[in-house]
This record gives sequence, C-alpha cells and structure tokens, in this order.
Amino acid sequence: MKEEKALFGPGPCNISIHVREAMARPMLGHLDPDFLLVMESCKARLRHVMRTNNAITFPVSGTGSAGMELLLLNFVEPGDRIVVGVNGVFGGRIAKLASKLGAEVTVVEAPWGEALPHDTLLSAVQCVEPRLLALVHGETSTGVHQSINGLGEAVHHVGGLLMVDCVTSLAGMSVDIDAWGVDLAFSGTQKCLACPPGLAPVSISERARERWVARQSPVPSFYFDLEQILAYMDGQGGRTYHHTAPVSLVQALNEALGDVLEEGLEARFERHRNAAAHLIEGMQALGFKPLVHETDRLHPLTTLRPPPGVDEARLRQTLMQQHRIEIGSGLGPLAGEVLRIGLMGGNATLERVEFLLHAISRTLD
Ligand code: PLP
Repeated sequence: MKEEKALFGPGPCNISIHVREAMARPMLGHLDPDFLLVMESCKARLRHVMRTNNAITFPVSGTGSAGMELLLLNFVEPGDRIVVGVNGVFGGRIAKLASKLGAEVTVVEAPWGEALPHDTLLSAVQCVEPRLLALVHGETSTGVHQSINGLGEAVHHVGGLLMVDCVTSLAGMSVDIDAWGVDLAFSGTQKCLACPPGLAPVSISERARERWVARQSPVPSFYFDLEQILAYMDGQGGRTYHHTAPVSLVQALNEALGDVLEEGLEARFERHRNAAAHLIEGMQALGFKPLVHETDRLHPLTTLRPPPGVDEARLRQTLMQQHRIEIGSGLGPLAGEVLRIGLMGGNATLERVEFLLHAISRTLD
C-alpha cells in the first residue's frame, strides 16, 4: 500500500488503523441482528458525544450535507419564516436550501472571519419571530467558532426551533446540544470524529419532533423522509427497510466514537485547543497572520494569511509534492487570501504540528 499522506486540510483527516480495520471487516446484512447491535451502539455513543438525551439521534446515510438536507426537508415548510446566520460558505448553503424549500429567509450577516454578535441575532429573532434559527457552530470556510449558548431560549420564547451545523466542531470543541437548547443538529464523520466521510450524525429534540408530527405538507423527498428512516432506525419500529444502511461506515463510526469516549470529551477538546495554539504560534514566527480574533477561533480549523511574497497556491503544491502533506485553500472571497489548516482527530497533537511546521519552514526556505 502507498505511504499515507498527512491530511491537514479542512477534512477528511487521517484515520486510525483500527477505524480502517473496521471498514475492512466482512460484510453484514443491514438487517442482521449483529449489525443492528452496532447501529444501536453508534446511536448511544453519539448521544454521549453530542451531549444529549434526544431519542432521535442517529447517523444519516450521506456526508454532512445530507444531515443538513434531511433536517431542512423535514422541519421547514413553504412560507415558514426562518433566520439564518451567514458569515461563510456553510451558512450560505443553509439559507439557499431553505429558500428552495419555499421558506421566507432572513439572513443575518457578519464579515467572513468574524462571529455573529448575539445581540444582532437576538434582535432578528425578536423582530422576525422565526419558526427556525439556523447557525453554523464551526464555519470551516473561515475558521470561526460561533457561540450558541443562550440563543436556544430566545428562539423557543417566540415558538421557534434552533438548528446548528456542528460538522467541524463535534468532538473537537464543546457541543452541548441539550444544555444549549439545540433542537436540530447535524455533523459529519470526516472531521474531528476521525472517520471516513459518508455519514451525517443528526440529533432531533422532542420539541422538534412535535413540530414535525404537526406538519401541514408532505416531506418533499423520498430518501430523506424521516418517518420512513425512523421505521428502520428506531429499534421499536420493527426495522422496516427503507434504504440499505452503509454497513462498513457505521462499523467505522462506532469504532471512532469509541475512541472519542475513551479519550474523554474534555481531554479531546483540550488537545485540539493546544494543537491550534501551537500551530498559530509557530506560523506567526514564520510571518503568517491568523484571520480570526483569538476569542472566536475554531480550534480544529485555522485560517492564516501568508506573509507578503509567499504564494499560498505554490506553498500548498510544494507541500503535497515534496512532503505528501495536504493543507486547504481559502474559499469564496478568501480564495487566494488564506490557508486553511485542519488539526482534527489524531492530527491535533503537538508532535503533528511540529512535523507540519517543519515541512512548511523548509518549503519557505
Ligand atoms: N458544514 C460545514 C461547517 C462543513 O465544514 C461542511 C464540509 O466541509 C459541510 C457542512 C458539508 O459537509 P460534507 O462536505 O461532508 O457534505
């Protein structure tokens, strides 16, 4: 097998040997009781990692975007007023899909690289009285961490739900679904869960489930019809076939979640925090400048402006060709302006940061 590349981009990140081995296990049928035990274990472990008691917590088949799509298709109806925080690519995606579904979308914006101030979000919630407030907890396009705590209460007060994209933050920074009053959360497996891409963990509160039961219009999708999916996912429901569960990916996710819980959430968050701080210190010494203010940084993903005279595309290319290291480029208005460096899962250690810094400094010589 070819030597492994070092994946310091915005995801996927490198995965451990035993997560790889889980992918290579002999195939099981997706209705086999042995596989259903793995699925139940996955659901229970996800509840721990997402810090929730929500009964409806499971991995959606598909990448992170499938989680977003399932939630919006099932919880937004034509004419719903919704508020979306947009300060990067992924907030923009939520707003676009919600409009396609016929929602009246109010966008609250902040410059790329800045978090959305709570008072601006709270005024929008009071003024619009939305059915849904949607925010990106870890905006991977900019490296911004959005604080969520306190917003659940405000949106519940006007009868709305809170939806959060925690694709990049889950298992790398604190995600506290129940304490924050999050009703709808979605994530992805290829970031801090250190698993291959292909599943989207979601969690749905009882408040949201009640709203969904009272829907006026049918869910405009076959693949993401929550009722049909729950008929398989819910152990009580007789496991009715809807679509074939991605067996190997679920086995891998179960292992990866086991790793996260064995390490402990707080220890894992601290490791990601320390690795990011070490990276920023080292990169500043090489002349790079962090895009995001210290208080709003997303530890698993750091954005840096190169010093004058350093061509970021050339740097990325040389790292790949000479060192087999992947790092990410800027997106949207930040294309060509910043590098995006992911320190996720097993890559969030001081040793791995040293390895990366050493390669970057050699590339700059
Ligand atoms: N949301 C955020 C914050 C992301 O970073 C990504 C992917 O990078 C997505 C959503 C979409 O996930 P995927 O590419 O796995 O579909």
